[in-house]
Amino acid sequence: MNGASSSAASPQHGLTNRLTRWARGLSSKGEIESHEEEADPHRARIGSIAHREITRRRKLYEDIGDFLFAHDLDLTPLNFGVAHDYITGAHIGVEKAVKAVLTERGKITNSWVETVVAEQRTDEVTPEALASMLCKVEENLSEFTGLMTESRNSAKDYGAALQEEVKGLAPGGNNEPVLSRLVALTRSMVEKTRQVETQLRHNQKQNLALKSSLESARRAAEHDHLTGLPNRRAFEAALQQELTLAKEQNEQLSVAFCDIDHFKQINDIHGHDTGDRVLKFVAGLLAKISNDRCHVARHGGEEFVMLFRGKTAAEACEAVDGVREDLATRSLVNRSNGERMERVSFSAGVANVFFYDDPRSALKAADRALYLAKEHGRNRVYLAAEAD
Ligand code: GH3
Ligand code: MG
Ligand code: MG
Repeated sequence: MNGASSSAASPQHGLTNRLTRWARGLSSKGEIESHEEEADPHRARIGSIAHREITRRRKLYEDIGDFLFAHDLDLTPLNFGVAHDYITGAHIGVEKAVKAVLTERGKITNSWVETVVAEQRTDEVTPEALASMLCKVEENLSEFTGLMTESRNSAKDYGAALQEEVKGLAPGGNNEPVLSRLVALTRSMVEKTRQVETQLRHNQKQNLALKSSLESARRAAEHDHLTGLPNRRAFEAALQQELTLAKEQNEQLSVAFCDIDHFKQINDIHGHDTGDRVLKFVAGLLAKISNDRCHVARHGGEEFVMLFRGKTAAEACEAVDGVREDLATRSLVNRSNGERMERVSFSAGVANVFFYDDPRSALKAADRALYLAKEHGRNRVYLAAEAD
């Protein structure tokens, strides 16, 4: 046992150390780490990790508070959630919406938070709709169980009654009354079976209807209603799956962010409906190159996200650039008035997922590359720098 560990062997000593540090107001990080290492390097390391975590959480808490106070936002779970997502970057859609409104207006309001949260959730199936579907599933299931029990019981009763009547049959005697009771019994059993059958058919019909509403709920939950493309939620699921596959098969994996250029102007000049049609058109062009190794999704607004398995970032860049060129050389016509529209283009940023610690960082890098593509003139596809 060396001197350093013997001094740390006394729990009192460690506690006093910690209390002293705490009383000092958690001075500087370096000071705390070197101080702990004098006592017990292992405990010091654990202590310093825990301390860093506490400091990080405290800082996050303070940043969220500062953000809410700076914008005079009420302390509601909604506001807290948006502040959290913006500060931590946990939700890229929220982060971008906040940045955009801050650039535009410099301020966030309670009602704006409600709107942005609602926008981010437009493609979610409401809890009410899901609850009502679950209720129907439960009702149908118990009706089905009831019908099955009823049918089993009548079959049992019929069997017992048959056996009872058969006992009354006498060889050579007058069996007519017994036989007519048997006929009556059989008739009633046939009638009962028919009733159960009708009810079962009805139950089955309801089941089919339920199955189809559950399917549309699932579709609504995973697809964007305007373009028909998978939404961000579906994309995130695809990203997890493709990440596993790419790792297993030792393949490349790249992501791309595409954003229509000056889309606000398209809306302003031609109207929202034409804007919607342009969105659908661009979505269709991007979807053309999708397959089981290339996923395209609407990330929100006029922004799309793509995932390429088996392609390096440079190869993915080439694929996206092909679509960009195709769009930029088209001359679109505004269907509502027959007028030729100005050229529509998009800019994009591409990153290799495996160049980053996690897919979220790769998405951020692709987003930064997109930002540079916009800065440098739009209608271009940029590769994210490797060490971005
Ligand atoms: P930039 O080239 O920098 O991307 O400019 P921009 O005008 O495309 O970007 P900005 O973020 O200023 O505007 C995006 C616009 O997209 C604003 C919003 O009203 C519009 N938008 C978002 N979703 C939809 C939609 O579903 N339909 C229509 N028609 N417009 C939408
Ligand atoms: Mg945009
Ligand atoms: Mg845009």
